[in-house]
Amino acid sequence: MLQKQIQERLSSMQSRIHPGFQKSLQRRFITIWIAAALSISGGLLLHRQGYPLLGWVLSGLFGILVLGGLLYLSWRLHHVKCLECGGKTRTRKDATRTQWVAQCEQCQIEWDLQTGAGGD
Ligand SMILES: [Zn+2]
Repeated sequence: MLQKQIQERLSSMQSRIHPGFQKSLQRRFITIWIAAALSISGGLLLHRQGYPLLGWVLSGLFGILVLGGLLYLSWRLHHVKCLECGGKTRTRKDATRTQWVAQCEQCQIEWDLQTGAGGD
């Protein structure tokens, strides 16, 4: 009987919404894309204006921003701190809701990151 209760407790994590995660991720996503858009259009403009070297520098910056930005966002997604204990969580897909969740084994809380697993 007791064992069953323990098992139930282990399998049924408390689900809570992680406040602010989605917004902060979205904000970063938008910032990165604006910077990337500015660098590629700036690069093209400089090419046309007769500054190919500067144009290439900005085009390179565009590549770095996109690649680095995506790496950074995925790093953020997989390094979510538990709001309850401040400890590390494990980020995984919630298959049924196709959302990302961060699980804290210590608190038995599943933080709903409100971010789609499709990569939006
Ligand atoms: Zn915790």
